[in-house]
Amino acid sequence: MSDIKFLDDLAKHFEKLPSVGKKTAERYAYHIVEKLSLEDVQSFAESLIKTKEATKHCTICGMLSDQDVCPICSSNYRTKEQIMVVKDTKDVLAIEKTNQYNGLYHVLGGLISPLDGISPDELNIDSLEKRLDNTKEVILATSFTPNGETTALYLEKILAKDGLIISRIGYGLPAGGDIEYVDELTLKRAIDSRKINQKEN
Ligand SMILES: [Zn+2]
Repeated sequence: MSDIKFLDDLAKHFEKLPSVGKKTAERYAYHIVEKLSLEDVQSFAESLIKTKEATKHCTICGMLSDQDVCPICSSNYRTKEQIMVVKDTKDVLAIEKTNQYNGLYHVLGGLISPLDGISPDELNIDSLEKRLDNTKEVILATSFTPNGETTALYLEKILAKDGLIISRIGYGLPAGGDIEYVDELTLKRAIDSRKINQKEN
């Protein structure tokens, strides 16, 4: 298929997506021009632009949303006493699927990574410290990778204060694995059996 040169430009766009190699990108490009109607392609293109333009970060928790304040932060049915700290919006979606957690979230937008030069200043941490007034428990749900552990230890240290419980989800989570790839049952157990690092005073 690679000798259909005029498709290369389109295929290159697909190669920017995760898990899409050159071959798959060429197949997508071919499928679009050969199989989809012009209406379908127009609607796809419009949807890409519309969704991208409408997406922002929730001003409270930092997760992706099409509103200034996301539906989780603005919900009256969620307990405001717990905040679960995660790396990104994909982790929120994975944990929401378990139906095991009814508190709020805080999305860091990455993990502390000395090797990649990502320091705490570049993450959404300041706003976490500022929203803890009514919080009883902060649940650290970063992955068991070196960066996930570094981030959890850092947060544990700077958030420590009287009366605030800081816990870490963990049991059964694979070392080195990303939260988003963990199956629902394992995640459920990990949330249930979270370990409290700091006793309530
Ligand atoms: Zn939010």
